[in-house]
Amino acid sequence: MLREVGAERILPPAELVALHDCAGRVLAEDILADRDYPPLARSARDGFAVRAADFPGSVRVIGEVRAGDRFQGAVQAGEAVEIMTGAPVPDGTDSIIMVEHITCEGAGTITTDRPVKSGDFINPRGCESPRGSVVLRAGSRLDYAGIAMLATVGRTLVPVYRKPRVAILATGDEIVDVDELPMEHQIRNSNSASLAAQVARAGGSALILPVARDTYKATRESIALGLEADLLLLSGGVSAGKYDIVEKVLAEFDAEFFFDRVLIQPGQPLVFGRAGGKFFFGLPGNPASTMITFELFARAAVALLSGASESPLHLLQARLTREFRHRPGLTRFLPAVLSVDGSQITPTGWQGSGDVGAMARANAFLVAEPERESWAAGDLMRVLAK
Ligand code: AMP
Ligand code: MG
Repeated sequence: MLREVGAERILPPAELVALHDCAGRVLAEDILADRDYPPLARSARDGFAVRAADFPGSVRVIGEVRAGDRFQGAVQAGEAVEIMTGAPVPDGTDSIIMVEHITCEGAGTITTDRPVKSGDFINPRGCESPRGSVVLRAGSRLDYAGIAMLATVGRTLVPVYRKPRVAILATGDEIVDVDELPMEHQIRNSNSASLAAQVARAGGSALILPVARDTYKATRESIALGLEADLLLLSGGVSAGKYDIVEKVLAEFDAEFFFDRVLIQPGQPLVFGRAGGKFFFGLPGNPASTMITFELFARAAVALLSGASESPLHLLQARLTREFRHRPGLTRFLPAVLSVDGSQITPTGWQGSGDVGAMARANAFLVAEPERESWAAGDLMRVLAK
């Protein structure tokens, strides 16, 4: 999305982070194999290292080799070496016979009537990653397998991008801090809390600003502060109400607006733009709208500003456990429970986009496409993982 609006790629500075602390971070450099992987031809099975040309037939077992060891000497025609998975293939052999495929005929002799092909059950030297090849690309987010690869090539310090600073600015006269006791007409600030958790998960460093009251002065001062960060996320104040002034104040900062409405629910009045060289999102204030619009739009922005080369949405498909209807026209995202095996989806039911409880109980969102009105029980439906 940031690329589509013509933004040149601004990459954050890199820093070195200890291997055990860099899960979830984005690599700032390509990582190269420090040697061939595997470093020697290796057996993929427990069995016998042999010469394929000797089979079908019988050969004499002259020794053994286990993982962590090397066989001394070379194997001649008519000979075999017992070998364990992961052990280096002895010189003179070209294939492995699985232990399950041989019979022992007297002491030290093995037989098989199967043909054997050169290369059977051998991982040749360098077949996974030859020395100097790229094993992990700059821009990839480090998951547990990436961490294993870094450990494999001996990287204890890893070059990753600095996390982008993401300012979070809740607006609204009715919003009080979480540690305050709200009066009846007030509500606690849950949006800054959910956004901070979402920002952290997306790879950003969240900076929660004090709530801005719905006045031009307060909103202006807070936005000025927020635009010092790498990305500004506002919540509330972007609907059509008299005190929804966020867009007007942003316009005072000479903001460029890329869009200010999206055809989804919850979340229609979503604002995305740039001011003073910084991107901002004006997320609608209803808690479900804030959460969904972050996941669908702002998450990708945080990921791209983290240096990540991509940030796909986790969309799957599951069968509805009951009938579902909606009014066509908008794509709807509804809190739902995905079964343990991921095959079935049940809408949780909710009271609308202020229902934080329904959002908290859900483990996924049902995605209702805008052109269709009803789905029967058993129909496949799109699901957005939470
Ligand atoms: P707004 O988008 O400003 O019109 O806000 C819509 C509704 O969302 C408000 O009436 C509040 O009920 C709720 N809301 C707005 N901001 C927050 C917040 N920071 N935390 C929790 N709820 C909020
Ligand atoms: Mg408001």
